[in-house]
Parts: sequence; C-alpha cells; structure tokens
Amino acid sequence: MARFVENTITFPYKRSLGPVIGAFMTALTERRILGIRRGDGVLVPPSEWDPATGAELAPDLVEVGPAGTVESWTWVPQPTEQHPLDRPFAFAFVRLDGASTPMLHAVDAGTREALRNGMRVAPRWKGTRVGRIDDLACFVPGEVPETEGDDTGPATEPVARMDYLASITYRNPVPESADRVVAASREHRLIGLECPVCSRVYASGNGYCPVDAIPLGPDREISLPDTGTISNFAVVTPVQYPGQTETEPFARVFVLLDGTDVVITYSPVIDLPAADVHVGTRVRAVWAGAADETEHAGGGLYGSWGDFLGWTPSGEPDVDDPDLVNRIF
Ligand SMILES: [Zn+2]
Repeated sequence: MARFVENTITFPYKRSLGPVIGAFMTALTERRILGIRRGDGVLVPPSEWDPATGAELAPDLVEVGPAGTVESWTWVPQPTEQHPLDRPFAFAFVRLDGASTPMLHAVDAGTREALRNGMRVAPRWKGTRVGRIDDLACFVPGEVPETEGDDTGPATEPVARMDYLASITYRNPVPESADRVVAASREHRLIGLECPVCSRVYASGNGYCPVDAIPLGPDREISLPDTGTISNFAVVTPVQYPGQTETEPFARVFVLLDGTDVVITYSPVIDLPAADVHVGTRVRAVWAGAADETEHAGGGLYGSWGDFLGWTPSGEPDVDDPDLVNRIF
C-alpha cells in the first residue's frame, strides 16, 4: 500500500470589479440582484459588454427577482469542499423575474426528486455579506427570500475589489525509495541507486533510471559520500507573497559528491552567506542532531530529506575545475 502526501498550493488574487460587476456585488450586500438592460432584455448577472456583439452596454442597471424560475438543473449528489453547499444540491439556471437570461447558481431543494424545470425559487441570503456571488448562499423553493442567521446589514462602501484564493491540492504517492532516503538520513547517510544497465547513480529517492526506464529496487542501493564540491548555485531573492517565510536572499546549491558522478541539487547551505557562495567550494553534509525532533524539509525531490539539512564549507581549498560548472545533474 503506497503512502501518499498531500500538498496544497494557494494563489491569492485581488481583482477590481469595475462599474457594473462592482454595482452587482454591492447590491448583493443589500440583498438585491441587478441586471443590465440590453435592448428590450435584461442580462443577469450584468456585464459591461454585450456578450452577443462585444459592444459596450450603457450602465442601465435594473433590479430583478427576487424570485425566479428554474429553467434547467443538474444534481450534485456528493459535494466537495469546493462546492457552495455541504449537502446534495442542484446547480441550476434560474431566470429571475424581470430577467431575460438565466443565472447559474445553487438550489437547495433537499432531494433530487424535489427539482423540476419550471419550479419557483427565491434567494437564501447569508447574514453577513461582503460583495461576493456567494452572499447569495443559494436559492430555495418558493417565492419568499430567506436570510441565514443574523443580518449584519449591507456594505458601508461600494464594493470595488474582490479577494479570491485559488487553491489546488495534490495527492502524490511516495516511492519506497524516497522513504529509504529519509530512513538512511536518520543514520546520517546519503544513499543512491545504481542502474545495472548504464551504471548511473541516482540520489534523492529516484526509484528508477530515466535513461533505461527501469525500476531500481533496494538491491541497487549504494552508500554515497557526504562530502563534495559546489558545482552550481542559485541565489533566490524572496518575494513577499503570502506564506513566504524567507526575508533575505538565500542560496540553493548543487553539490558534486566526491568520487562519484552524483549531483545533489537545490540544497540549502548552512553557515555560508548567500553572497559568499561560489563554484568550487568544498562542502560537507550537515545532519540534524538527536535532540532535533523536527522534520526538516530540505528541498529534495519529494519535499523531505529527513535529517539531511544541507551543506556547510569544509574548510578545504577550493577546487579549480572549469568543467565543474557544467555538472548540474
Ligand atoms: Zn540506466
């Protein structure tokens, strides 16, 4: 049974809404739904441009609803955390009274059997509204709007921007070879896997030879030296995005291990200022002490090198080899 790790990456966005969507969002905080006139019709939600022609629409906004009619729907039997409701619900096209286009939103009707085209629905508003489409929590059967919990009132200023956290979670299997790298690190050892066909050696938990496309099992495991020479490096100047913990420029180095063709990539350096990192520096591995109980992330291919923390200068003279810089993997 494979072990899995989950990684979630999140991108925060702030977007300006413009005069039409901004007015729409502001009206939602007032528990009102706006459309925009287009000829004899009313588009809901409103847009700045005519979707049929691309022509700019005059900002002639008009209130619609609050009730409307379901024109079509699809049942969501098993909502995920990304869905607007945590129980089975329908996504539906709801044409609000006074609108000429349907709006896509959630309908909380309890059961699939309760849904039908032509049914009348009304908004269920959130008690606290901030100017997002989900201020309108969903539609419910009937003609009468509802509000969840205490009503904290409309926005005090027009809604001009919207914050949005785009997020995605990856779930990846962890190869046994990666777990063995971590286990070896507990004994302060670096290990690699040697391909029986091409004799290349792979570190960092790669459980296969990408050249010969064959798996490399524990029987191919060899010990690697924990001394080497910096063959290349990158200095990263941190941008202060949310979640960034680094504040100063930091280095990631590539180290060619002694007596091998193995390069350990993108490792941290310890007691070596980023400005002093250069190709040819002799280094040795730094291991977490027994008292250090934290799981150290080290920039390895699978996110963790266990007790291997990075590299520190060994104090030996630099290696002067013009070919060293070409050793990046
Ligand atoms: Zn091979």
